[in-house]
Amino acid sequence: MSTLVIPVRMDDGTVEHFPSFRIQYNGSRGPTKGGIRYHPGVDEDEVDELAFLMTLKCAVAGLPFGGAKGGVQVDPEELSEGELERLSRAYVDEYHDVIGPQKDIPAPDVNTNAKVMGWMMDEYESVAGERAPGVITGKPPEIGGSEGREYATSLGGAVVLDEFVEYEGMGEELDVAIQGMGNVGSYLAEFLDERGYNVVAVSDSSGGVYDGDGIDVPAMLDEYRESGDLDGFGDAVTNDELLTLNADVLVPAAIEDQITDENVDDVRADAVLEMANGPTTPSADERLSERGVPVVPDILANAGGVTVSYFEWVQNEANEYWLETKVNEKLAEQMRGAFRGIRSVKQNGDLTWRSAAYVHGVNTVLDAEAHRGNVS
Ligand code: GLU
Repeated sequence: MSTLVIPVRMDDGTVEHFPSFRIQYNGSRGPTKGGIRYHPGVDEDEVDELAFLMTLKCAVAGLPFGGAKGGVQVDPEELSEGELERLSRAYVDEYHDVIGPQKDIPAPDVNTNAKVMGWMMDEYESVAGERAPGVITGKPPEIGGSEGREYATSLGGAVVLDEFVEYEGMGEELDVAIQGMGNVGSYLAEFLDERGYNVVAVSDSSGGVYDGDGIDVPAMLDEYRESGDLDGFGDAVTNDELLTLNADVLVPAAIEDQITDENVDDVRADAVLEMANGPTTPSADERLSERGVPVVPDILANAGGVTVSYFEWVQNEANEYWLETKVNEKLAEQMRGAFRGIRSVKQNGDLTWRSAAYVHGVNTVLDAEAHRGNVS
């Protein structure tokens, strides 16, 4: 576990210091894996909890990885591109000894992306003095990234939702409300629209739109990607209103702690698909379960990202690159396997989806520890 303060030369010549973190939670199943987030509120407790969740996520997804997470206390919007690049390279300089293709493999998370991963890989290779594309995933395809990685979290979520809806017998043309139009929320809207779901509401951090007849998703995404504007695609709603709309499925796809004690009793959806990490607080989760509202937990719903990260790492290690169709087929297969593994634990123990996912994840990690002789 590390907490280090990173000095970065700013454009005006001054030096600023940014607290940073990298926590490796458990490596019994393989090299540790998990993203790096840039956020002003990130702290050691949050990174630790997210590293724990990555451990379970990799286990339930059936990936030969342990779990880790990283973060930098920064608002990237306040940095110039040059400052962002220097910060990203400095992060790798600080943590160079603890990361590596067979040690700990970072990836994108909140406010980091393929460009940041490219700088980080380049820095790692410069310090190491050798090629090491498998040190980081989520890179641009031109420098060893995988086809399909950018939208993998969303495609994985769509596959899981199909399985879940079929299992729960929820019917067709379901109304879906999506909170968050970042990478995950925007591609998810596209995939769900293509699959016949009715996307009735979407939002970004400044608010959203609702159209009970269904939003014209391709047009909305064209406009949003161009101008960052959702206006005109439905009636204006706040983020709080979006969470309590009368949709069949509610999808928090932004940040943590969105469904809370304050609003949980107003949530009217019949099911929740957690595409963000930790969007439901523990007591709100309990309340949903008392009310019989199933929650597909983050460690299953959003495991598509780390799954294609694993495929990226395999391709890097083999120096062999796969077509997009192959990546997507393997992703769907892996997600269906993860869903079915959790489903059988749920059925055997009469558990909620989250409890089943945790039990399955923890047992899988403990099995690995036992085979290493670390527990009896
Ligand atoms: N940050 C993503 C997650 O929370 C992806 C992690 C990875 O690809 O290693 O699952």
